[in-house]
Amino acid sequence: MTSNKLTGTLLACLCSAVSFAADGIMQFSFPECIITCIQDTPVRHQASLFASVKGTPLPTKQDSFLSSINLFLLEKNGERFLIDAGNDQRRGSLKGKLETLKIEPSTIKAVFITHIHPDHVGGLLWNNAPLFPNATIYIARDEYEPWQKDTRRAALATYLKPYQNKLQLFDFGNPLPGGLIPIKKAGHTPGHTVYKLALSATDIAIFVGDILHAVELQVPHPDFCARYDSTPAEAVKSRLEIYGEKALLFGAHFPFPACATITPAGTGIYTYVPFAK
Ligand SMILES: [Zn+2]
Repeated sequence: MTSNKLTGTLLACLCSAVSFAADGIMQFSFPECIITCIQDTPVRHQASLFASVKGTPLPTKQDSFLSSINLFLLEKNGERFLIDAGNDQRRGSLKGKLETLKIEPSTIKAVFITHIHPDHVGGLLWNNAPLFPNATIYIARDEYEPWQKDTRRAALATYLKPYQNKLQLFDFGNPLPGGLIPIKKAGHTPGHTVYKLALSATDIAIFVGDILHAVELQVPHPDFCARYDSTPAEAVKSRLEIYGEKALLFGAHFPFPACATITPAGTGIYTYVPFAK
């Protein structure tokens, strides 16, 4: 795939994207699927959250960076899937946004989790019961098993326990429903997962989860990690691998509508090209 092709895909998005009346919902139509970005929670991150693995000082005087908490609805072959579920009902807005989209939560067939953090699994419940009663919850075994031993994340069992009969742990590499291919990009958490999706014979999308938290800082300076990254050096490696991908990226913490390319613009230099209406 050439970068021209990629630009072509992005432009195709530009032509077919539909903005809904409600804030925080943007739909991208492709020949074989529709991807809807749902902004769960608007966020700015304090600059003090970030540190460089190289020990270099913050390269800007900005005291905060634009971010967002997003999740994605994938509609393909008449089936509906979510990639992540956002925050719980105290902060998140998933249930209301699905109502705006006229989508019954019971029609969601599966939820693919990038990693077990509250802003990704919290929205699985509504009033302590599964919001998605018919969904299988897919989580990488390499994420789930370390999580079970991580006492700092033990409270998040609240969100997964009601789905214990619907949990599907998977190993990396094999395609999942919807044609999503899970790939391990660890560092944010031990089994942090990105999901690749073929958009056509040549173009791909990747749901990149928490590969970064502040585009403004971490695209030009990939060595900066949020303190949420469990193993920062590994997070930087995973981040750079994603920056090298010729793909349309959908980020859990990209500024809304969270669809962009990140392309090399010289040795160690990257450019963030967001979708813009
Ligand atoms: Zn997150």
